[in-house]
Amino acid sequence: LFLAVEGIDGSGKSGIVGQLAAHLRRQGREVVTTREPGGTHEGEALRALLLSGADDAWDPMAELLLMTAARVQHVRRVIAPALARGAAVVSDRFVGSTLAYQGTGRGLSEPFIRQLHAQAVGDLWPDLTLILDLDAATGLARSRRRLGDAALDEGRFESLDLAFHERIRAAFLAQAARDPARHTVIDASGRPDQVCALALAALDRLTG
Ligand code: C5P
Repeated sequence: LFLAVEGIDGSGKSGIVGQLAAHLRRQGREVVTTREPGGTHEGEALRALLLSGADDAWDPMAELLLMTAARVQHVRRVIAPALARGAAVVSDRFVGSTLAYQGTGRGLSEPFIRQLHAQAVGDLWPDLTLILDLDAATGLARSRRRLGDAALDEGRFESLDLAFHERIRAAFLAQAARDPARHTVIDASGRPDQVCALALAALDRLTG
């Protein structure tokens, strides 16, 4: 079982990843929680490179290839072995984020990203991707609170750009519309316990 959780910054992904994992563990399953970019020693090093510096520091194609390099390590060293031994994997972001941020956000071709993904990791797609849907203004307000004002002086200024995040939100919704069987859109505007209940219900529909 391979689950991915996607959404704009501040949509509450990491909390939901933890709740999904706890739910599966209560059912006696081995669960591996992980994230992208990251998930391996090498991938976390690439994450630090990618997220440091100004928002436009990386050329979009270079950014896509580094994201993909991190994913190759992640899939081959962590995700595929875990799935092979029967564990469930819950990933905070996966290829949906690449399609949204590097595709819609940075203007790279979506067919090319899909083709690169297929070549790089043998076309591995999550059984279910949960999209935590939230308007961009609320998401940005939440990530501002989380990061604190000091953190906003450095790093990716994109986290302040409302229009950019509205386009990312629309990109995730379009992914769900394109392949509804493998995506569930969850209203992430409610209280954490309400969002959690929606996420667990989607998981139960898949596994039950
Ligand atoms: O998921 P998390 O909030 O930790 O992601 C860190 C940052 O990486 C986010 O601000 C997101 O904008 C960025 N990102 C990206 N392209 C991806 C995945 C994440 O620009 N494919």
